[in-house]
Amino acid sequence: MKISVVVPIYNEKDNIEELYKELKEVLESLPHQYEIIFVNDGSTDGSGELLNQLAHQDTSVKVIHFRKNFGQTAAISAGFYYATGDVIFTMDGDLQNDPKDIPKLLEKMEEGYDIVSGWRKDRKDPYWTRVFPSKVANAIISAVTGVKLHDYGCSLKAYKSFIIKELHLYGEQHRFIPALASELGCKIAEIPVNHRPRKAGKSKYGLSRTFKVLLDLIVIKFLLFYKAKPMRIFGGIGSILFLFGIFPLSYLILYKIFTGASIGTRPLLTISTLLTLAGLQLICLGILGELIIRLYFENYDKRPYYIRETVNIQ
Ligand code: UDP
Ligand code: MG
Repeated sequence: MKISVVVPIYNEKDNIEELYKELKEVLESLPHQYEIIFVNDGSTDGSGELLNQLAHQDTSVKVIHFRKNFGQTAAISAGFYYATGDVIFTMDGDLQNDPKDIPKLLEKMEEGYDIVSGWRKDRKDPYWTRVFPSKVANAIISAVTGVKLHDYGCSLKAYKSFIIKELHLYGEQHRFIPALASELGCKIAEIPVNHRPRKAGKSKYGLSRTFKVLLDLIVIKFLLFYKAKPMRIFGGIGSILFLFGIFPLSYLILYKIFTGASIGTRPLLTISTLLTLAGLQLICLGILGELIIRLYFENYDKRPYYIRETVNIQ
């Protein structure tokens, strides 16, 4: 078995050497082959040169340099793309995650899990701007996706590589991998891990990330539950709005025809017209969605299912 450790690096010059030392010690103690993939996400502080030096001394260190800063999710995806291990770990490059947890995650995985996620039970970050918003976000994400984790945001996670190779990540969605992977029929576990305060360098995120994460969640919810059936959600909501619009509207029109009274000033006219139109629009959107997913599934050879194993089939 081979282990890949993917570490995104954006201006972490003062953390890299220590991280490398700690990682090396843990990986050497395990009976597996390994590689460490550093993805330099457009660092400007000399992290790139430092990584090159490490790779020069040690061939188990692999480095991918981005042309500019593309973000942590992009960095992780690049690492996944080039990783050759059977099990792929991700962790932060700022020493907040502890490499000593790697064997624990691995042990849990050997119990038969496809993803083992770290849980920063005792998180060492500012409470009101980071820890508290993240608790709220985790509760919402768990409720919406049905994949219950305490800590979606923990970077220290272990994945079987077949899962990773079937996922495509966009935006800042790496934290949603467990939710996305639930679609692939994965077994997911979560175990408490060590978390340390950031000693060197600066955090790249603040409170605004929680808000972005919640926006992403809407997309994830759609992808998970309605990607293969957009008409259900758009057509469903659209039909309800349409019904609430068309009845009062018909009433007003009949009223006008039979009594001759003016209906132009009635608020009901505006409301029912709006509801009817909005409903029709959504239904059309649902139909368009159905057309688009056919393109998506057929042109890109995507299938609406994932197979764990086949027997007697080449
Ligand atoms: N990171 C990155 N690209 C970015 C932002 C961050 O590769 O645009 C890396 C960063 O170097 C670190 C990890 O992602 O290794 C997590 O970042 P950070 O520690 O700032 O996040 P926090 O722990 O504060 O959530
Ligand atoms: Mg950090």
